[in-house]
Amino acid sequence: MPTNQNNLLASIAEEVTQCRHKLHQNPATSYEEVFASNLIAEKLTEWGIEFERGWAETGIVATIHGQETSSGKSVGFRGDIDALDITESSGVTHASCVPGKMHACGHDGHTSILLGTAKYLSETRNFNGKVHLFFQPAEEGGGGAYRMIEEGLFDKYPVESVYAIHNWPYAPRGFVGIKGGPIMASSDEIFITITGKGGHAAMPHECIDPIVIASEIVLSLQTIVGRTIDPAESSVISITNFNAGTGATNIIPTDVKLEGTVRTFNNKVRDTVEKRIREIVEGIAHAHGAKGTLEYIRNYDPTINTPEQASLCADIARTLFGVESVHTEFAPSMGAEDFGAMLQKKPGCYTIFGQGEPQDPDSPHNFGLHHPRYDFNDKLIPSVISYFSAITEKMLPL
Ligand SMILES: [Zn+2]
Ligand SMILES: [Zn+2]
Repeated sequence: MPTNQNNLLASIAEEVTQCRHKLHQNPATSYEEVFASNLIAEKLTEWGIEFERGWAETGIVATIHGQETSSGKSVGFRGDIDALDITESSGVTHASCVPGKMHACGHDGHTSILLGTAKYLSETRNFNGKVHLFFQPAEEGGGGAYRMIEEGLFDKYPVESVYAIHNWPYAPRGFVGIKGGPIMASSDEIFITITGKGGHAAMPHECIDPIVIASEIVLSLQTIVGRTIDPAESSVISITNFNAGTGATNIIPTDVKLEGTVRTFNNKVRDTVEKRIREIVEGIAHAHGAKGTLEYIRNYDPTINTPEQASLCADIARTLFGVESVHTEFAPSMGAEDFGAMLQKKPGCYTIFGQGEPQDPDSPHNFGLHHPRYDFNDKLIPSVISYFSAITEKMLPL
């Protein structure tokens, strides 16, 4: 990169790092990210960048036109803007000023990176086409990406491909993880009700005991992962709530409610898991003369990178950060990410940027995501701005 571009990058990184600290001090959760939304709009206005507010309440889409637009093509970058219901104890000078709320997943960093990318691309414009920057609310369970898509995001902004990153405290700074295929899991919720026949605990022959039936179901559900799904595929079924009884020791209750989560890395496995859970719940309950029902709620889709875009991104990252920094073989995370919704609609790539500082064991950058002592590592800001800009120039060549 020429020196004048390096200087530009450094000055932009400095400016958006200050935005990052302001965002960190003023966190808000799903669809209430008014402070972030106003700050983004203020900066884009100051820099003369076109944008549209009102996507999924607090979301914003910014558009930057290349030096040429004759290609008719565009690419999209997504940054999430929401925080979490966590009380911060990081001790950093820019710690949260909002009781009980915290940017503990680094979305303040992702937002600032997207702002920096907007500024950098609007100053350089070394591309032919358009870039759309999706400032997305409500990643942490609120499904902001789904909502923007439902509101017509890709009809109005029909990008060829879409990109996002996540900071990764579990890997040292300098690690860049890029791979084709699944990188984050789907996250679904299950709600099971077993209805038997309640009665006196000393007269079980007069009852249909839903606790015994539900126990059998909990154990049998584990055979789906072990016996039905291909061992080369990954999946998790966890029952996390088992609710029954009145507190009395001499009453067999009428019903039991089970709740849990299902994680998979592709939709075929997901379909199989849902079908088998239903068969086990209904079948075992029926075998004992009870009734079993399943409500299966599909939340986030798995985040699946398209091989072509992942490979192009890995080449770009090798050029920018060095061959040794780029890792294409690593285990996907069982966590979920609603950027997966965008990758169900468009080709693209979700990249992991290590942010740990192992030489400084007390660094807040080493604490895991959603930990009260976590803090985003500002050193990632210029790296990811240059990565997003390089993707733009590669995908939309002049
Ligand atoms: Zn998170
Ligand atoms: Zn996150």
